[in-house]
Amino acid sequence: MLGRLLNPRRARQFQRLLRNGKVTLLCLFLTVIMLRGNLGAGKFGTPEKDLDELRETFSYIRKRVEPRRVLEEATVVAQGQQKATDSTGSGTNNYAEFDITKILKDEDDGVPEFKRDPSQPYSLGPKISDWDEQRAEWLKRNPDFPNFIAENKPRVLLVTGSSPKPCENPVGDHYLLKSIKNKIDYCRLHGIEIFYNMALLDAEMAGFWAKLPLIRKLLLSHPEVEFLWWMDSDAMFTDMAYELPWERYKDHNFVMHGWNEMIYDQKNWIGLNTGSFLLRNCQWSLDILDTWAPMGPKGKIREEAGKLLTRELKDRPVFEADDQSAMVYILATQREKWGNKVYLENAYYLHGYWGILVDRYEEMIENYHPGLGDHRWPLVTHFVGCKPCGKFGDYPVERCLKQMDRAFNFGDNQILQMYGFTHKSLASRRVIRIRNETNNPLEVRDDLGLLHPAFKAVKV
Ligand code: UDP
Ligand code: MN
Repeated sequence: MLGRLLNPRRARQFQRLLRNGKVTLLCLFLTVIMLRGNLGAGKFGTPEKDLDELRETFSYIRKRVEPRRVLEEATVVAQGQQKATDSTGSGTNNYAEFDITKILKDEDDGVPEFKRDPSQPYSLGPKISDWDEQRAEWLKRNPDFPNFIAENKPRVLLVTGSSPKPCENPVGDHYLLKSIKNKIDYCRLHGIEIFYNMALLDAEMAGFWAKLPLIRKLLLSHPEVEFLWWMDSDAMFTDMAYELPWERYKDHNFVMHGWNEMIYDQKNWIGLNTGSFLLRNCQWSLDILDTWAPMGPKGKIREEAGKLLTRELKDRPVFEADDQSAMVYILATQREKWGNKVYLENAYYLHGYWGILVDRYEEMIENYHPGLGDHRWPLVTHFVGCKPCGKFGDYPVERCLKQMDRAFNFGDNQILQMYGFTHKSLASRRVIRIRNETNNPLEVRDDLGLLHPAFKAVKV
């Protein structure tokens, strides 16, 4: 038939083509059967589903090709290096099962740490007595780094930190992360810079005393900073809108949450709190740091000082000297020397004890709004005594962690609402939408005024 339609040469060519085509079709058929068996949805899969899966598998393989090759090379090298120790299973790729203690061995390199001459009293560093002049000179020579960034708006550095080692329970590190995220949020909104410290700058001043050498170092290295704001890692901002009343502190150098009567009349060890305080960058502050530090060195000095503090202060339990008790003791015994430059604040919660705040968040949401900073909407909720990074705290772990989540979410809701979200409840990590998306994103109302807060505006 073909011969009748085409000339003989053309017909022969066409027949050859058909024969080859049959072989090609057979090959294609076999390939599809094979791929369906190995990669496809199996005998219950529809052709569409098969195709989707095939597409996915191939794109996955394409994506994986490079990294996988690199990974395999790395594994070969690692195996080569570890032949001798491999019986411990250190070649595992499984983070969940990896024994972290393997890489957390104490780094004892045999070089002894610097030992202070025990006959000499402890000091934070060389005596400086003209810091005000040195700093004023520096500020004059560096007009691009003013210590006030607006009228009544000092340049502030928020300083916080935690131990160089991971927490006793890995969940403690998760709470440290939540806590620094919370501080980053507040500081971004209020034009404050953050310094997070994980280095023990002075081995003798471990634990709650670690902040002293750090604070001195930062004051001296940053003359442009007017106020340093120390905040414990277990304290969180719960009012994102509250701006500190800077004007109120213009004649003071040290601002702590506390009460005059409890310090000067009762010498009560909880008359002030050192978990969140402001310290002005000046000679006076260096002097009070020098007066504060001598009870800090760990060992015998700290133990003996602890006995003195328990004896002298109201209601103090028996334990080694802590920075808070030491400050109460200094103020109570040397009021004439320091008192007039210390502001004990209690009109809002520069520090707020969690025990009296966390069960009232719902009531606050019901009746008030952010921006008040006080008992109606506390600026800071501080988890005193919880020790989420340590081994033992003073309260049940479950209560501490649950309440820390509530405080975090309470603060975080004020951030999320700017973007149209909120946590499902104060107990929930999950978030829900609180408004519809719009094609006029810049018209969305910013109820708390936090997207472009006035206290952050730059005047050019
Ligand atoms: N801290 C530190 N390095 C350490 C241990 C503690 O910087 O190695 C800091 C940390 O920010 C912690 C603060 O010291 O929050 C004070 O300790 P803690 O909050 O546990 O004391 P509490 O407020 O419970 O009295
Ligand atoms: Mn604390």
